[in-house]
Amino acid sequence: CVAMGRATTLRSWAAAAIGVLSCRVAAGLPASPMGRSAVRGAAHLTPSRARSLSSKLRMVAEATATSSALDAPPAEHPAFDLVRVETVDEYTLKCATYRHRKSGAEIISAAADDDNKVFGIVFRTPVTDSTGVPHILEHSVLCGSDKYTSKEPFAELLKGSLQTFLNAFTYPDRTCYPVASQNTKDFYNLVNVYLDAVLNPRAKRDPTVLEQEGWHYELDDAAAPLTYKGVVFNEMKGVYSSPESRMYRAAQQATFPDNTYSVDSGGDPAVIPSLSFEQFKGYHDAYYHPANSRIFFYGDDDLTYRLQLLDEYLSAFDAPDTPPASAIVTQKLYTKPMKVVEPFPASAEEGSDAQHMVTVNWLLNEEPLPEVEELALNILDHLLMGTTTAPLYKAMLDSGLGAAIMGGGLSDELKQATFSVGLKGVAKDDVPKVEVLALETLRATAESGFDADAIEASLNTVEFTMREMNTGGFPKGLAFMLSIMPRWIYREGGASVSSPADALRFEAPLAELKERLAK
Ligand SMILES: [Zn+2]
Repeated sequence: CVAMGRATTLRSWAAAAIGVLSCRVAAGLPASPMGRSAVRGAAHLTPSRARSLSSKLRMVAEATATSSALDAPPAEHPAFDLVRVETVDEYTLKCATYRHRKSGAEIISAAADDDNKVFGIVFRTPVTDSTGVPHILEHSVLCGSDKYTSKEPFAELLKGSLQTFLNAFTYPDRTCYPVASQNTKDFYNLVNVYLDAVLNPRAKRDPTVLEQEGWHYELDDAAAPLTYKGVVFNEMKGVYSSPESRMYRAAQQATFPDNTYSVDSGGDPAVIPSLSFEQFKGYHDAYYHPANSRIFFYGDDDLTYRLQLLDEYLSAFDAPDTPPASAIVTQKLYTKPMKVVEPFPASAEEGSDAQHMVTVNWLLNEEPLPEVEELALNILDHLLMGTTTAPLYKAMLDSGLGAAIMGGGLSDELKQATFSVGLKGVAKDDVPKVEVLALETLRATAESGFDADAIEASLNTVEFTMREMNTGGFPKGLAFMLSIMPRWIYREGGASVSSPADALRFEAPLAELKERLAK
């Protein structure tokens, strides 16, 4: 599955909802261009997927302030250095950060009074081409491993496990393998299968896995033309047939010409067939090393056992002298606007030329944003775009220049934040008017400011979302994991320098923002 870096609301579970886009469970579901609110996020679920999630889940009781999770001492294990112990009072979590001495892996082990246990391993997987190697690997590692020799362990787990979540996502710069279960034995079985899959996959010694999951030639008849087939090749052909998806890709690639976001980690069908088995294997060697991983545990299970289990897998690896070069290059901000025009296949029958799509995109920052500014940006985004009466949303839609809004507003899932707004179903002559309208509306709003009532309403909405952390059928621990991951993978020095769990802390920045607004 390809999870694109889309607009999300920071510190809300909406960040997690994006990941639900899944080619495995909901086959052929194209990446949707937006996911900026919980409601829109949930819309990405197919009905059958939503049913199967809700039937397996029950409401998780809110942890109380006097929870046992906070009382338990951090686990110690001779193979691990304990780097930091901290509590996240906002969600009653106690997080211990470790470094595995031999392999260099970083681990955050969160204790919580929640039986919906979560495990995830994430690798930074930047790319320099659109062969889709991270996406093909994401599919391929789940096709059997040294210990789990079945060719379809993923399909078997999906059928036979009590899992509440089981999937994998390819982002533009990372690959994420999460599992969740309320049954402890089942949970550790899932963890074992996933760890062996990512570290010791059959795909590395058996080239037929790449052929099946990536690409191969197919010839049905000697007289027929030779064609390409493959699970990811076919999936991405579907994705590339969606005009909105092409638009989103073009915007991202044009905004970030200097780094990994300028190419497609999911794979461009025109480029996928240039991927060789040697490149594929070399990519796994380079990036699927524990020293390039971030490992997360969450729930009410035994904290020491987590470390024992991890050591069984990680101790087979030695930390390299220099860590894998996987840091994401920072894109320089622009000094002037640029325009990119790209063609896409449109249907001829509609009899109208109103098939153009336009988005205006901003790159917002070079340096990581201070907490209070991140929060302020989220509230500003809600004020501009969050409701049907929000000024930017309303101006775009009421203009009659297009049929529907494009661009999801603020996106803070990748290394640098972006803001995007536009329309689809635009007539050729109206294309330049969309940009003028967006800029004029922002200028007018900046001059007039927002009503005090509107600011309070947006602040309340964002605050309520953070406090409630109502993830619906989505495991809470997974929402936490996906929320802390950007800080964990983007900040220099990883978890040993600053705490990724800061991403979950909202009380202090909220108080500071309210104080600023009161002045
Ligand atoms: Zn996929």
